[in-house]
Amino acid sequence: MDLSVIIPIYNEEATLLALYNRLCNVLAPMGLSSYELIFVNDGSADRSLSLIRELAAHDPHVRYADFSRNFGHQIAVSAGLDLSHGAVVVIIDADLQDPPELIPALYAKLREGYEVVYAKRRSRQGESVAKKFTAKLFYRLLARITNISIPVDTGDFRIVSRKVVDALRQMPEQNKFIRGQISWIGYRQTYVEYDRAERAGGETGYTYRKMLRLALDGITGFSDVPLKMASVSGFLVSGVAFLVMLYTLYARFITRDYEPGWASLMVSILFLGGVQLITVGIIGEYIARLLANVRQRPLYIISDTNVTDAPTRPQAAGLPTGTAL
Ligand code: UDP
Ligand code: MG
Repeated sequence: MDLSVIIPIYNEEATLLALYNRLCNVLAPMGLSSYELIFVNDGSADRSLSLIRELAAHDPHVRYADFSRNFGHQIAVSAGLDLSHGAVVVIIDADLQDPPELIPALYAKLREGYEVVYAKRRSRQGESVAKKFTAKLFYRLLARITNISIPVDTGDFRIVSRKVVDALRQMPEQNKFIRGQISWIGYRQTYVEYDRAERAGGETGYTYRKMLRLALDGITGFSDVPLKMASVSGFLVSGVAFLVMLYTLYARFITRDYEPGWASLMVSILFLGGVQLITVGIIGEYIARLLANVRQRPLYIISDTNVTDAPTRPQAAGLPTGTAL
């Protein structure tokens, strides 16, 4: 199998057929000996699944897996990676914001001797100012506080080699941030620039809540800076508190010039309380993710699929399976 295309689907009935047609038009002339389109239906509530089944009935290139519920975009892509057979794998959004016509360029670049070619957004259309601003801020912040270089302004639209897929499948974390994991893996990586289009139809499946979760997964997965910030801010605040304490004692016993200090007391209590809550919250974010990994639940549940010959998972180095933690 030369090439697999992974397409996560969450309520995409409006764009599915157009996507399929454009993918076929792009892939057919590429001279591949074989390819597959893997649709991962992430608990859609619309007609997406029946459309996919119809495509699969007519076209042997179409493979699909149907999740038992909505597990999230990153997990849908992970399932696609698990089911893929291709020597190279393309990850693409279903809403045609990532143009399928860019695939030959990504593929050609990969053949020059890279293991990863990601598609970098030169511009993005049809998205709210708030979304563009938060995305921009997030990518910059992430670049500052992680010690691997995760490319800015880049989603998951990319082509990767089988080596990278195997490495990804050995990474057992539950809170996936695939673009970060791919940077972490290394190898020779490069990019191709493109202009990101508007959604061709339907609505975004990424609510602010899901975006926030993805952002937190990216940060906690690849940076300890927030944890360290918690202790640094603890030291800073204690330092200031100590100085204020000295001043209070001085005013009380030396100058004896003091007010019954209700205001200052309230301010310091509220301030210290705030810092403590933030710190506890940051620790909580990390502990929650620790817990998710200790539970070792399967990442997703497939209720139906036409992929009968999924490749077996490469064995991860390190802990033998079944080791108690
Ligand atoms: N998606 C998914 N599960 C979700 C949300 C989104 O599989 O819970 C898919 C969606 O069908 C699309 C891709 O992830 O193929 C990107 O989602 P979307 O276009 O809604 O995100 P945006 O481009 O607005 O960030
Ligand atoms: Mg989109």
